[in-house]
Amino acid sequence: MEVDPPPLVSPLFNDAKADVILRTVGVDFRMYKSLLSLASPFFDGMFTLPQPTSKSSRAVEKLLMFCHPAHSPVLETLDEVRLVIEPAVKYDMAGVVQRIVMQFAKFIDQAPLRAYCIAWQFKLRDQVQQAAEHLLKQPLLPRRFVKELDLIPATALHRLHEYHYSCGKAARAVATAFGWIDVSSYIRFEAGPVCYSCSNGGETVTGYDNQSISARSWWVEYMRETAVLLQERPCGATVKDPELLNKTFRRAVQCRDCKDRVLMEMQEFTGDFASEVERTTAMITLDIDF
Ligand SMILES: [Zn+2]
Repeated sequence: MEVDPPPLVSPLFNDAKADVILRTVGVDFRMYKSLLSLASPFFDGMFTLPQPTSKSSRAVEKLLMFCHPAHSPVLETLDEVRLVIEPAVKYDMAGVVQRIVMQFAKFIDQAPLRAYCIAWQFKLRDQVQQAAEHLLKQPLLPRRFVKELDLIPATALHRLHEYHYSCGKAARAVATAFGWIDVSSYIRFEAGPVCYSCSNGGETVTGYDNQSISARSWWVEYMRETAVLLQERPCGATVKDPELLNKTFRRAVQCRDCKDRVLMEMQEFTGDFASEVERTTAMITLDIDF
């Protein structure tokens, strides 16, 4: 079916060389941007706004693919995520936002700070939390700059630092107060009945239910060093840091009683230790105020 072009009110507004069309209900006015800009700051402002680019048409194409049930578009980069999620949030497309968010986890792994900023910008609470947890695997210093910091208020970065610091403090406590350790099941770390050569000068460790042991020197040393590292990187992986464990093994193998057992025993212990660190930091709340 052919559609008649809208009627024109005057030949003045029908110049083929005109570069802008003002469309009202049923009527098109062909006009010159330069004349309108001179005439009106309103139009001047409108024409200096960013015009649609190939970037935004890519975003629209991807967005439409997310709307289409037959497509499973894959988002390759965080820039692409931002490009697509922005209009999806703006136009309140909850289902599309949900499909985009389903792909977010890999970006948290790849670039947690950038992901944190983007998740905060678009008020994705779960993703903000997950990114903050991921960032516990890195020390706060040296500070890293990412361009997405421009997207968030200073409060969002402050909250992240507070969370990291509180987790660090709590994780450090796991390595310095041993109430969570059932020392009777860790008799192997005890100097005395099994191993005399690793005695720690009589230093005792008090564990769960006030049980006390005289712990082996290399284990005490390991716990001291781990406490420092946990303050910086408060996560389970820290207690299994290969460099730290190698150092511990090198100390332990100097003892004829410990050398054949340290590997297996520490494997089991660090598993429990890591779980306790994770359990403790999970109780710290990230303050998200949206
Ligand atoms: Zn020993």
